[in-house]
Order: sequence, then structure tokens, then C-alpha cells
Amino acid sequence: MLHSISLPAGEFGGPWVTDLFLGRLDTNAHESFAALRGLRVSAHFVIRRDGSVLQFVDTTRRAWHAGVSQWRGRANCNDDSVGIELEGLEGERFEAPQYAVLARLLRSLARRHPIREVVGHEHVAPGRKHDPGAGFDWQRLRRLLRTQRLWLHGEPDRSWGLKAQVMRHSGPVDHPGKHGRTHYR
Ligand SMILES: [Zn+2]
Repeated sequence: MLHSISLPAGEFGGPWVTDLFLGRLDTNAHESFAALRGLRVSAHFVIRRDGSVLQFVDTTRRAWHAGVSQWRGRANCNDDSVGIELEGLEGERFEAPQYAVLARLLRSLARRHPIREVVGHEHVAPGRKHDPGAGFDWQRLRRLLRTQRLWLHGEPDRSWGLKAQVMRHSGPVDHPGKHGRTHYR
């Protein structure tokens, strides 16, 4: 699950995001931090603007990044998702190194865990959350991923895709292997 975060909002490179996820944010350091007082959140990964990656939680353990959430009929997305925070401002654009590193990280995660889908926080908590937002380029991520094992938000429903796959194997002989593949795009 993809998020965006910056502390203070729109300022990059400071120590505050790290402090937040380590549970040691000085909420007096900036007036906007007062709203974060007592908040206990975590994420598995943070990808900074320069593409450097920080890991805070082992991917076999639960992190607290999704809040009240639901996806494909399952609630509490923290139970079965890896939270990746992109340093950025929700709705704004992200940096090229972030996309490159994100694609590598996702491929790596998909090899180690039964992860098949990448969604944004905004998709599992619509109305309540809006990150990473309109500035995140899902098509760009798709091009960089170079794998069809992961579905991105906005692509055809996974079950539909599996159906297409089955059809490809048992499909009409007059269309050998022609269908299915295009359905992934
Ligand atoms: Zn979020």
C-alpha cells in the first residue's frame, strides 16, 4: 500500500518522518505537529525524495499505516499489507528515483510474499484518505515494474484477470494464445 508523507507538510529531508515512525517525534518542534500528539503509527518502508529507502518494520510483522480501511471486501488492511511511504505531498508529483526504487522494492516484495496488488491509501480509505494522490503516476510505475505478477490500482480486477488467464489456456483453438495477454495492459 502506497502512501505519501512529509513533515511539516511539503517540507522534505528533515528528521521528522523518521522520528514519527520511531515513536519519538517532538510534537513541539513545529506547530503543525500538535495534531500528531499521541499518534502511534508505523510503516514498513519510507522512500525519500532521493530514492533512499528506510525500513522500520519487518515485512513479516504488522505495521500501523492504513487505519480504518477495506479492500476487496476485507477490512483492516494493516493485517495483510506492506506500507510504503513516499516522501512527498499528497496530490503533488514524486521524484524519478522514488519510482525506480519503488519498482525494485515491489518486485522484491512480490518474490518474498504472496503480494499481488499495489494500491494507494486513498483506495482503501476513500473519502478519509487522499494519499498518494493525483500526483502519483501509476502508469509510470507500471512501465518500471516490468512484471505482470503485480496488479496496480486501476488495472483490471484481479479475478477477472485470472479468468482471462484460464481462458487463454482453455480458449478456442482458432485463437491460439492471442487473447489474455492484451487484457493485462
Ligand atoms: Zn497514508
